[in-house]
Amino acid sequence: MSALELTTALTHAIYVLVFLLVLPRTLRQFTPAHFDMTLFFGVVALIILESRIMPLLGVAPPAWVSDMVIVLFISLPYLLLRLVDDFTRVPAVILRLVELGLLAFAVVTVAIDARPSAFVTLGIVAYVALVSLYCAVRIIRAAHRALGVTRRRLEAVSLGTILLGADLLAMGLMAFLIEPERTMVDGFTQLLALGSAVAYYVGFAPPLVLRRAWQAPELRALLTRAAQLPRLPTTLDIVRELEAGAAASTGSNARIGLWHEDDLVLRMWEPGTDELVEVKAGQFIAGRAFERQAVVYSGDPQKDDPENAARYRAAGVGAVLAAPITAGGRRLGVLVLFAARPPIFAVSDRELAQLLADQAAVILESRALIDHAARVKAQEEATRMKEDFVSAAAHDLKTPLTTVVAQAEFLERKALRDPSAPPDVPGLRRIVRESKRLAALVTDLLDASRLEQGRLVGEREPVDLGALVSEVVARQHPGAHVCEVDVRGAVVGTYDRRRIEQLVQNLVENAKKYSPDSARVRLAVWQQDGEARITVRDEGIGIPASDLPTIFERFARASNVDDRKFHGMGLGLYICRGIAEEHGGRIWAESELGKGTTFHVALPLREGRRLN
Ligand code: ADP
Repeated sequence: MSALELTTALTHAIYVLVFLLVLPRTLRQFTPAHFDMTLFFGVVALIILESRIMPLLGVAPPAWVSDMVIVLFISLPYLLLRLVDDFTRVPAVILRLVELGLLAFAVVTVAIDARPSAFVTLGIVAYVALVSLYCAVRIIRAAHRALGVTRRRLEAVSLGTILLGADLLAMGLMAFLIEPERTMVDGFTQLLALGSAVAYYVGFAPPLVLRRAWQAPELRALLTRAAQLPRLPTTLDIVRELEAGAAASTGSNARIGLWHEDDLVLRMWEPGTDELVEVKAGQFIAGRAFERQAVVYSGDPQKDDPENAARYRAAGVGAVLAAPITAGGRRLGVLVLFAARPPIFAVSDRELAQLLADQAAVILESRALIDHAARVKAQEEATRMKEDFVSAAAHDLKTPLTTVVAQAEFLERKALRDPSAPPDVPGLRRIVRESKRLAALVTDLLDASRLEQGRLVGEREPVDLGALVSEVVARQHPGAHVCEVDVRGAVVGTYDRRRIEQLVQNLVENAKKYSPDSARVRLAVWQQDGEARITVRDEGIGIPASDLPTIFERFARASNVDDRKFHGMGLGLYICRGIAEEHGGRIWAESELGKGTTFHVALPLREGRRLN
C-alpha cells in the first residue's frame, strides 16, 4: 500500500467513524444540529463507500451511480451551510439561493447522459468554492465573537471549512488534469480531506474529554478567583465577575438573577448599565428553573415559552440553560446561560451549569455572611458608642448639676433660717455660672447629635472672616489672657456665620483654657491657595504627639489633661471638625508639649474674594 493509499484509507476511515459516532447521538437526542451533522457525514460516507465498493466489484459504475456521486458531492457545501446555520444564523435568502444552485446542478447532472462538459464542471467548482468560502467567513466571524469552548469549536470548524473548500476546489480541478499531475493533486486532496475530517469532528461533535479540556482553563480561572470574589466592594461587582466567569467557562452568555424575598422577584443587571430587569418566579426559562429548583434547558425558547417568544426573538436568544442558585435550602437566585443557537450547549453542560450555579451560591452566601458580620459589628459599635455617649454625658452633666443643686439648697436653707438676710450674691453667681456650663454642655450634646445626622451647618451667606474673628475675640471676657488678631486682608466666603463663630469661639476658649492665665493667644486670618485660612495659636500645655491624630474624635481628650483641673467632655473639637468639613474645609493641629498648640482651619472661598 502506497503512502497515498494509506492517507486515503485513513481519511475514509475517519469520515466513516465520525458518521458512526454522530448517528447514535442524533437518534438519542434529535436536534436540527445533530440531524444536519449526521446528514453531512452520512453523505461523505456514501461517497466514500461508492469509491471503495466499485473497484472491489471490478465493474465500471453505472451512469446513475456516477450521477448520484456527483449530486452528493455538490450537496456537500449546502449541507455545510445548514450546519453553519445551526451554529450562527444564515439569512434565509442565502439558504434558498444555495438550494436553487444545488437543484440546478443536480438536474443538469442527471439530465445530461455524457460526462458533464467543462463548462458545467467549472460552474460546479465555482459554486462549491463560493459556498464554502461563505461558510468559512461566517464561521470565522462567529468564532471571533464567541468565548471559551465555543470559540475553540468554531475555530476548528472554520479550519475544517477552509480545508474542505480547498479540497473540493482541488477535486473539481482534477477533472482538467492529466497524469502524473492528477495523482499528485489527488494525494493533496486526500490530505486536505483528512484535515477537514478531523477538524469537523472536533468542532461539530467534540468528544466529552475534549470539551472538558477546552472548558477547563476558564473554569479553573473562575474557581481560583472564587475565594476573593466575596470581598469585592459591591454585590454587583461579584455578580459581574461570576457572569464573566460562567460565560467564559461555557462559551455562552451568562446572566445572574438575584432573588428578592420581599418583592418576590429575580433581579438581573443589564450588562454595561446599572439597569435592573425583574423576572418573577416561573416567568421565562430562568424563572422556571428557579421555581422548579432544577436545571432547565430549552433548545427552542420561542416554542417552549410562547408567551415571551417576541422577547427571545428580539434578543436573538435561541437556546437557554438555567440553573438555580441555592445554598443550604436558601434560594438565592438563578444562573442563566444563553446562546443564539442550540448546539453551543451539550447535554453535559447541564452539569456544568449546576456546578457554576453552586459555586455562585457559595460565593454569594459568603458575601451575605460578611455583610451580616459587618452589620452586627456596626450595631455593636453603635450600641457601644451610645453607651459611651450616655455615660460621658451623664458624668459631665452631673458635676455642674450637683453644684447647682447643692448651692441652691444651701441658699434655700439660709433664706428659711433668716428671711431678712441680704441675698448671697457669690452663691447666686456660682449657680448662674454652673447653670451656664450645664446649658453649654447640653448645647454641645445637641450639636454632636446634629453632626451625626450631617445637618450641623445651615443657611450660608457671604461672611468676612477677618471681621468675624475680631468680633468673636472682642466678645470674650476681658480675662488675664492677651488675645491678638492679625487679619491679613479681608477674606470673604459663603458660610454659615453662626457655625463659623462657634468654631472660632471653641478654639479661642480652648486656647485660653489650656494655657496659663498670662499667656498670649494669637489669631490670624488670611487667604492662601484659593482657601480661607484661620489659625489660633497658644502658649499652653500642648498636646502629646500620640494624641494629635485622635483629638478631633468624639469624647476624645488628650492624656495630659486632668479631668479635675480642666472640665470638658471632648466634644468641642469634634464639633469644630464637623463645621469645617460640612463647609468643605479642613481642620488640623500642630503642637509641642509644654510649649503650645496651633489650630489650623482651611475653608473653601467659593464666591470669596479679597476686598482690598
Ligand atoms: P474638651 O476641651 O471639652 O475636652 P475639645 O474637643 O475641645 O474637648 O478638646 C479635646 C481635647 O483636645 C482636650 O481635652 C484637650 O486634651 C485637647 N486640646 C484642645 N485644645 C487644646 C489646646 N489649645 N491646648 C492643648 N490641648 C488642647
